[in-house]
Amino acid sequence: MVLRWCELTGKDFEKLKPQIAILPVGTVERHGDHLPLGTDNIVPEWLAERVAERLENAVVLPPVKYGVSITLAKFPGTISIPPEAFMNYVKHIMLEVVRNGIKYLVVINGHGGNTRELQVISKEVAAETEASVLLIDWWRDVAQDKRFKIFQYPGHAGEDETSAIMAIRPELVKMEHAEDHVMPYPRLKIYSRVLEDKLFPRAVNGKATLASAEKGKEFLNAVIADIIKAVEEFTKLVA
Ligand SMILES: [Zn+2]
Repeated sequence: MVLRWCELTGKDFEKLKPQIAILPVGTVERHGDHLPLGTDNIVPEWLAERVAERLENAVVLPPVKYGVSITLAKFPGTISIPPEAFMNYVKHIMLEVVRNGIKYLVVINGHGGNTRELQVISKEVAAETEASVLLIDWWRDVAQDKRFKIFQYPGHAGEDETSAIMAIRPELVKMEHAEDHVMPYPRLKIYSRVLEDKLFPRAVNGKATLASAEKGKEFLNAVIADIIKAVEEFTKLVA
């Protein structure tokens, strides 16, 4: 059974006194021509529920659906929030969750553009309260052996992300519009519109055409198992 914060009555909440809260965070962003604009919400929200149903005393928070999508803001369908507004809003959600007695906050992030902002506010919340925060970028912080075994060309709207949506919401994927574009991300920290246009000419980087629901299921199962292990390790480390 999944415990969802907004489905509990106040009385249930008081009785339950949950220790662990899981916050899915995503964005609304173009993912090529074949994936839904809410791809970065669909995956972390689904993962949060799969993880919560297998953990004791964990409750799923309502998700943060809007994020920082500066790089792909020029593509129709993207909704990008300025970093300062995003950080301020999400930090205050986190502080309120902690004020309600949560000791362990697990953030499952579905979007690379949010990562640095989430790192900054997680550090601040940890410094300002007694709570601890575990931040997980679902596609790159867990199950990486599996990721590189299953997928030849993972990347934005590429083989891994397309496979994940095919496994979770197959009816939303238009494979007839899937495209491939492969350009490795440079090792250097370069900030440049010229480079962004090369990396994402069509809001895809990877080989979307190689995706399948089977690959998605295999990867997501490994991701769920690894997140559960990570949460157990986290709660032990900071107890
Ligand atoms: Zn994505």
